[in-house]
Amino acid sequence: MLATEQTVVLPDRVTSFTAVCHACLEEQLATLEEDSWIGARVSGELWLEDDTGWATCARGHRVRLIRAGRSGEHLLGSRYG
Ligand SMILES: [Zn+2]
Repeated sequence: MLATEQTVVLPDRVTSFTAVCHACLEEQLATLEEDSWIGARVSGELWLEDDTGWATCARGHRVRLIRAGRSGEHLLGSRYG
């Protein structure tokens, strides 16, 4: 299990995304479902006027969204901490 929350950084002018949910991935690796990572996806949207937001994967893991190059960028320092 991940000890910290996930963060997805969206480039400027990007409003929607699909990424791998690492929390799902960790769970699936733990149960040796080796090929199922393809289903470990999280999709979300972040409006252009927003710097931060949240997305939730199909299994309910929360993912923090940060707009790159804006005020949220300082938060990246905690990404791997
Ligand atoms: Zn998940």
